Amino acid sequence: MSFNEDKIADFIYGRLLKFSHLKTERIGNAIVSRVTGSSKLNVILAGHIDTVLPNGNENPVFKAPRLYGIGACDMKGGISVMLKLAEDVISPKHSITYIFYPTEEVGNADNGLLKLHQSNEEIFSAAAAILLEPSSSVIEAGCQGVLRFELRIKGERAHSARPYMGVNAIHRSLSVLEKVVDFGEPKPIVEGLEYHESLQCVFIKGGIQGNVIPDEVILTLSYRFAPNKDSVAAKEFIRCYFEDLLDLSLGDEIQYADVSASALPSLNNPIIKELKDAVEKVNPKLGWTDVALFQSIGIEACNFGPGDAELAHSSSEYVTKEQLEECYVVLKDLLSDQEES
Ligand SMILES: [Zn+2]
Repeated sequence: MSFNEDKIADFIYGRLLKFSHLKTERIGNAIVSRVTGSSKLNVILAGHIDTVLPNGNENPVFKAPRLYGIGACDMKGGISVMLKLAEDVISPKHSITYIFYPTEEVGNADNGLLKLHQSNEEIFSAAAAILLEPSSSVIEAGCQGVLRFELRIKGERAHSARPYMGVNAIHRSLSVLEKVVDFGEPKPIVEGLEYHESLQCVFIKGGIQGNVIPDEVILTLSYRFAPNKDSVAAKEFIRCYFEDLLDLSLGDEIQYADVSASALPSLNNPIIKELKDAVEKVNPKLGWTDVALFQSIGIEACNFGPGDAELAHSSSEYVTKEQLEECYVVLKDLLSDQEES
């Protein structure tokens, strides 16, 4: 699990060190392994080696054809495909950098890929990156951004026997909540793909005591936005969306907590396009992944890996040999020099 990757990092490092065509280094619990190709381009294949906390599935169980266990799908399946490719693709078309990194299933600040970029920026030079997160071996393009923010709705305290002397912030928050519900489920089309947006209130706080008209309600909201908006546009959209309901003279305000950037589908990137032509199926990515981090540092990326993303983080997650082979075959074909293969 996260912050506990020593053993899996030892295993990956020890295994890759045996291959002379690879140049492998270990940076903390991140393993970076490179092989030189015949073109001038470089492709990154990346995957996280941590898992979420186990939930009764810490011991692996094989019930043919499924291998159950914590992280089987998210994302030891992708990691095992990366390992096999690293071992088998000896003379690739493009140079390949394999990045195995820790602490992805945690907050952004601890993200192992981000930390590796901060300490070893030179590793991150590539024409494209493929993240082997589970995607049933279809391309999951781009990703949603996530903006967390608070709406602070103000009022004026008064005795509850004389409510006309105050302004009830809880009552005022009703119209704001109605507007949140009215948001619905917009589905913007970006590069031909239908993304989903959502606006959800995830916490609510307000009230002082039984005989006091409350003077503040804090609504915490999560806005998942499509990649036709960047983080700045997402904030501006939220400001405009609630503008009419906020009373600045009472002190209402929006406070942005944190934002995870969205990522564009990048389907015109030559390497991602080649992958797209091979698998012929592209879905928009729901949720956030490290493709956004790659995009923020100027590397176009997509998700493509074995296993069903809907099983990720569930106690019944599993992967099958067939799923691994399906993903492996496509990537081996993409990465191998045609003359050699
Ligand atoms: Zn994952």
